Amino acid sequence: MFDCIIVGAGPAGATVAYHLAKRGRSVLVLEKANLPRYKPCSGAVSPSVAQWFDFDFAPAINRKVNRVRYTWKLEDPIEAKLETSEPIWMVKRDVFDHFLVKQAQAQGAEVQDGVTVNGIEIKGDRWLVNTSSGTQEAKFLVGADGAKGKMAEWLGFKTPKLRQIGILEVKAPEAVAEHNAINFEFGLLKNGCLWNFPKSDGFSIGAGSF
Ligand SMILES: Cc1cc2nc3c(=O)[nH]c(=O)nc-3n(C[C@H](O)[C@H](O)[C@H](O)COP(=O)(O)OP(=O)(O)OC[C@H]3O[C@@H](n4cnc5c(N)ncnc54)[C@H](O)[C@@H]3O)c2cc1C
Repeated sequence: MFDCIIVGAGPAGATVAYHLAKRGRSVLVLEKANLPRYKPCSGAVSPSVAQWFDFDFAPAINRKVNRVRYTWKLEDPIEAKLETSEPIWMVKRDVFDHFLVKQAQAQGAEVQDGVTVNGIEIKGDRWLVNTSSGTQEAKFLVGADGAKGKMAEWLGFKTPKLRQIGILEVKAPEAVAEHNAINFEFGLLKNGCLWNFPKSDGFSIGAGSF
């Protein structure tokens, strides 16, 4: 039996696992995907997250960007240089998320990937977690299974209203060098925006209506 079972090995789950394991708790992380797993995400991370960790994120950062550019119908560009001491981190989620998981493992957390949680039940003072590879038990349970995960519903929380976002990741290593800003375009998409975030070898282009 574990002190805590964490469902999901994204940044939330890996962070909980890291801090609990570091404090000597026995932790099991269950992740349905095989790690490292790709996740569609533009991957702009605020460097302020560093304050909650005591290790260097450098190996997980793909690129740093300190300019933001805004347009309306692709015109009237406004470009601002960020005055923060540390630029925005651009990350690739397979690398970034797996880096966090490895930090948790280094503290003693057990991670089982390729294992789907199919249901949970409480029995006395413990949680029984039913997975695709058997049942696991823990005193505490953490739902870190993302926006589309089932844990919130199983635990009786209100399920969030989901919105659609389209994302396209383009490899264009020759073109990125001259693009050193995060771009937001507000006029082309009604009630939403488009964005284009540069990575070291291409672009992450998104469209979201809110
Ligand atoms: C298109 C897009 C662009 C985005 N861009 C940015 C951005 O630029 N910057 C930013 O900060 N945020 C961005 N986000 C938001 C960001 O992706 C989320 O906030 C973040 O991933 C949440 O992390 P998490 O650990 O809570 O969940 P997730 O990263 O979603 O991880 C949940 C994990 O749980 C696993 N899981 C789910 N169900 C089960 C189950 N039953 N059993 C076992 N495992 C399970 C999943 O496989 C997954 O690995 C973006 C999101 C989208 C969709």
